[in-house]
Amino acid sequence: MTRLTVLGFRAGRPDAVSPCSGYLLEHDGTTVLVDCGPGIVGQLTARGLEHRIDAVVLTHLHQDHMFDVVPLAFTRLLTPTPPPRIPLYVPEDSVATLARLDDWVAVPTDPAVGRPLSTAFDVRPLVRDGATVVRLGDGVTLTGFRAKHAVPSASLRFALGDRTVAFSSDTGWCDGVLGAARDADVFVCEATYLTADPAMLADHGHLTAELTGSLARTAGVDRLVVSHLLGYDDEKSFAAAAESAAPVPVTAASAGLVVPVG
Ligand SMILES: [Zn+2]
Repeated sequence: MTRLTVLGFRAGRPDAVSPCSGYLLEHDGTTVLVDCGPGIVGQLTARGLEHRIDAVVLTHLHQDHMFDVVPLAFTRLLTPTPPPRIPLYVPEDSVATLARLDDWVAVPTDPAVGRPLSTAFDVRPLVRDGATVVRLGDGVTLTGFRAKHAVPSASLRFALGDRTVAFSSDTGWCDGVLGAARDADVFVCEATYLTADPAMLADHGHLTAELTGSLARTAGVDRLVVSHLLGYDDEKSFAAAAESAAPVPVTAASAGLVVPVG
C-alpha cells in the first residue's frame, strides 16, 4: 500500500477548515510525516499515529510548517513507555536553529522533557543538492533540492518503491523544485496566491496557482495537488487556475484527502 494523506494544507495559520502544512506518506509499513505545522499533532493522535511515525521531514522552519514539532515531542515523551527516537530532517543550514528551540520549550524540573526535541528526535541535516539519497525505510528514499524561499527551504523527492511523490515546499519558480518534481507520479505544490505581483512573488519565494500548473506541466508530473492555500478564496478556484495551465489531473488539497499512489 502506497498513499499520501493530507493532514493539513493551510498557509500561515490554521483555521476551522484545516491545520497548517502536514502530510503522511505510507509505503509498505513505513510512515513518514512531511511538515508538522500548527494543528497536525491533533490529526496524528486522531489516527493513532503519534507513536507510529518512522521519520519526520521539515521542508523549512517557518512556523506554519513546523511549530507542532514541540507538542509532537511532548506527546512522544510524556507516555509510560516512550517510543524510540526517530530521525527528523531539516535543511542543512537550519539544524542549529531548530536545536535552539530546546532552550526555551524545556521543562528543567521534569527529566522526561528536559531537552524534549533532542530526546524525541535525532535531528539530521537534509542536504539540498538534488543528488544525496537518504534511506528512510524499506523501499523509501528521500532526495532534497534547493527551493527558493525567504529562509532555507527544501523541495523533496520521495521514491516509494517504483513510485515518486514530490513536495515543492514554499518556493518560487526555480531549478530545484523542477528537479524534485521531474516526472513525479504525484506532486504536492504550493499555490499560495491566485494573483500576485511578480516582485512580491520573487521577494518571498511563492507561486500563484497558475504558475503551479505551469511548473507541473514543465516537470511532466502525472498528478498535481495544489496546497498551502491561504483561505481568502475558494479552494476550487486554485485548482481551476492551476488546471488551466496544466494538462494533468489537479486536486485542491483538503484536510483528510487520501491520494493512492500507484
Ligand atoms: Zn508556509
